[in-house]
Amino acid sequence: MSALKCDECGVGRYRLINSPFLMKLGRQMLVMPDAPAYFCDVCGYRAFDEDFLASMHYLIRQAVDDSQRRKPKRQPVQQPDARAIPPARQRR
Ligand SMILES: [Zn+2]
Repeated sequence: MSALKCDECGVGRYRLINSPFLMKLGRQMLVMPDAPAYFCDVCGYRAFDEDFLASMHYLIRQAVDDSQRRKPKRQPVQQPDARAIPPARQRR
């Protein structure tokens, strides 16, 4: 097994770990709890597996294209109504 040297510190070696992968997609957050990643045992630098990232990007692009095809129009975001102000009470 040839351990990869860390790009950041140049001293540590990468260890293959499973790490949560988070990706923000607009207003959504994509979470992969056990993504393959390399973790430097000296400086703690973390890098995700390139094959994994490539496949993730491919999947995301597919999903984005798909959703854009399905709803061509953007739906306006419904905003909660401003608090209704009760009409001033009339005093006699
Ligand atoms: Zn390092």
